[in-house]
Amino acid sequence: MGKTTKPGFKNGNGQVNLGRTEPPRPGNDHLQFVYVMHCPRCVRNYGANGSGIRHAKCPFHQNGEPGLELTADEPDRRP
Ligand SMILES: [Zn+2]
Repeated sequence: MGKTTKPGFKNGNGQVNLGRTEPPRPGNDHLQFVYVMHCPRCVRNYGANGSGIRHAKCPFHQNGEPGLELTADEPDRRP
């Protein structure tokens, strides 16, 4: 497991990985899981493949890709 997939990892765009969804769900990239990403500026969450964490940009203020769908309490998860 790489460093980017560890909960609390913050990428160069300031986006924070809050960890895998609970329960873990497959993403839409090969052999990837969905991770809950958090934007501290927008205080909003979105989903990303594990492979996309390092370069993830906020879909709300950084013109990032639309996030993968989150369910249940995932949009409200906080660091
Ligand atoms: Zn944002």
